[in-house]
Amino acid sequence: MQPGARGTLWWRALAWMALAIVFTATHWPNLQLDLPMRGSDKVLHAVAFMTLALVWWPTGFIRSVPLFALAATAWSILDEATQALPFVHRHAGVEDAVANLCGITIATLAIIALEQDPRAPGHAVRALAWRMMIDRPQAWMACAASTALGAMAGGVILVAAQSLLRQPIKPLHSALIGATLGVAVALHATIVVMLRSMEARVRAQRCCPACGAPGVHGPACATCGALVPGSTWMASISRSLGGVPDRHWIRVGLVPVGVAGLVLVLIMAASIALSIRRLEALQPYLGPEVDPGMRLVLDAVALAVAASAGLWWSRRAARRIRSRESIECLACGHDLRGSAAESGVGRCSECAEPFRVTVDGSPQNEG
Ligand SMILES: [Zn+2]
Ligand SMILES: [Zn+2]
Repeated sequence: MQPGARGTLWWRALAWMALAIVFTATHWPNLQLDLPMRGSDKVLHAVAFMTLALVWWPTGFIRSVPLFALAATAWSILDEATQALPFVHRHAGVEDAVANLCGITIATLAIIALEQDPRAPGHAVRALAWRMMIDRPQAWMACAASTALGAMAGGVILVAAQSLLRQPIKPLHSALIGATLGVAVALHATIVVMLRSMEARVRAQRCCPACGAPGVHGPACATCGALVPGSTWMASISRSLGGVPDRHWIRVGLVPVGVAGLVLVLIMAASIALSIRRLEALQPYLGPEVDPGMRLVLDAVALAVAASAGLWWSRRAARRIRSRESIECLACGHDLRGSAAESGVGRCSECAEPFRVTVDGSPQNEG
């Protein structure tokens, strides 16, 4: 069995289950949420559809991000529209549909921001480690445990924190937002730790990136025959900053933070300008009596747009720096032109840092 095959099946089972849960919840006839949240279920809508999109993306049914976002949007509109069917006894609302769309937007931005660059050093090893990890039931159990713990801790912390505010937001809102943030932090930490140990194993055992068979020594895998270039085993020079050395921190760290801040300021300016104009169609979102849940959802979208703009900028800068890795040593800046390379990997004559060259001898072009 190919590495990742079983894990993908589990993802798909999870995705269908999540879809069934959300569909049941949105179509339960006459559902009255008797919760102390009076009126606003917008946060619930956004979190549900964000989670749904994040669970469906790794199933691999749709591999193009724009197509995936389009399909998710179509599904969310269908979900909201079918609530207008008479026998469902539910209320279909434009604002609910907008909240769903906001959740999908946040998920799509996260998917784009977390997308791995296939040309980054060590990508093949990382991708194999990921596929081997999702095949293991222990990994899923660890994720389930950290999801539960993160939700509890995050919910409790945010409810406690918001009670200190002068104008506390509704407890259910803060519990839901805290739980979502707690799950994100706990899951991320768990996955990073598991992925690193799996990556170390893949490197130590020299597993073939195509079939996962250990013991690859030489240019090709003895089990499946796939070509395994020597640069496969190269680790990126730094784990932070998109795999480029820390001396590039201004281009890869500081400038992107400034870009994110600028985007946030622009969004705020635009929303202030639009609310001064008092456009009729925008009153439910920018008017003086905006539903507090809707306001939280819109703020979350603004933050997600700004953060992903910064991340996009940072990754592009890192790609540009790495694209010169066979021209100028990433570690010390030494001129590498004319340096000899063997099966795609050379070493800097100054600091002995390895660098990659494509097979035809031209520098890695990572546009
Ligand atoms: Zn193989
Ligand atoms: Zn060097």
